[in-house]
Amino acid sequence: MNAIVDLRSDTVTRPTAAMYEAMIRAPVGDDTYGEDPTVNALQERIAGMLGFEAALFVPTGTQSNLCALLAHCGRGDEYLVGQMAHCYRWEGGGAAVLGSIQPQPIEHAADGTLALSRIVEEIKPRNEHFATTRLLALENTLGGRVIPEYYLKAATELAAQHGLSSHLDGARLFNAAVAQAAFSGLRPEIEARNIASYFDSVSVCFSKGLGAPAGSALCGSADFIARARRIRKVAGGAMRQAGVLAAAAHYGLDHHIERLADDHRLAKRLFKGLSGLANASVEAPDTNMVFLELRGRASKHVDKLVRHLAQHGIVTTSHYRLRLVTHMDVGEDDITRAVGLIREFLE
Ligand SMILES: *Cc1c(COP(=O)(O)O)cnc(C)c1O
Repeated sequence: MNAIVDLRSDTVTRPTAAMYEAMIRAPVGDDTYGEDPTVNALQERIAGMLGFEAALFVPTGTQSNLCALLAHCGRGDEYLVGQMAHCYRWEGGGAAVLGSIQPQPIEHAADGTLALSRIVEEIKPRNEHFATTRLLALENTLGGRVIPEYYLKAATELAAQHGLSSHLDGARLFNAAVAQAAFSGLRPEIEARNIASYFDSVSVCFSKGLGAPAGSALCGSADFIARARRIRKVAGGAMRQAGVLAAAAHYGLDHHIERLADDHRLAKRLFKGLSGLANASVEAPDTNMVFLELRGRASKHVDKLVRHLAQHGIVTTSHYRLRLVTHMDVGEDDITRAVGLIREFLE
């Protein structure tokens, strides 16, 4: 019997032995008092890496975005956001539930961007009829796609011209950075900093491709992070000896950024292996996510395909289409097996 291959998400990775070692050795303190040296060092490190004054370590990416939205916007304010953005669609409506902040979703163009003309159209006039538009929230990568840097620059400049702040949900910022680095020849750290430079705040996850068991960071100005810190407390996210988790994040930053290129390479192998099927289409991946869309009669059988794969030890999800995500705990042989099984089923 082969081992289970979990392609649902890059969140399923387990800490490596060396990461556990780093967690065991981490000096800790009470982070609610600001006394955890490993958390403090991580916050300084990630803020410095991405070019911000300050950062806040939080348990999840959802809480990071929530802290950002509530620190940027007040009750009755509004943020502009993509229809498929995580901080609009996949976070339980937290900003509305907990912050009385209204989202204004905007449809994505084919490349994942929000048309600049649509952003302008959705900025409300400043009068008593309207919620006050405060913030543009973007995401990179979005569904595994790298959003081009010229667009990030143009959209955030436009936002600033209209008096809006800008937030980047960069849960997979380092995937975007590594993908860009493959073209530019620059170091991924430089690419990450460049991407972050256009935004007033950036959230990054350590628990995705970087392989940590939990944790995200929100970066911004010192004032902004002070407000976010208060919201983190209210949301129940002020932890105590969180250094054990921060140590895993440090380890991920030290050892798991460059290796994201391996995940991207495996995703390309998946894509190549699944190309050319008569009854399914697949898009070339920018990073570590491959989406397989079944066509014609086959489209009725997505759930059957998911079950078929599960019976053979390959775990996937199908929300709108079959999603296959590569990560640290997936290897070449696993991809070969997955491709073989999917092709066999569809042929
Ligand atoms: C995973 C993810 C989040 C939220 O992270 P959690 O730690 O699961 O709360 C936010 N944004 C994006 C784009 C994500 O992929």
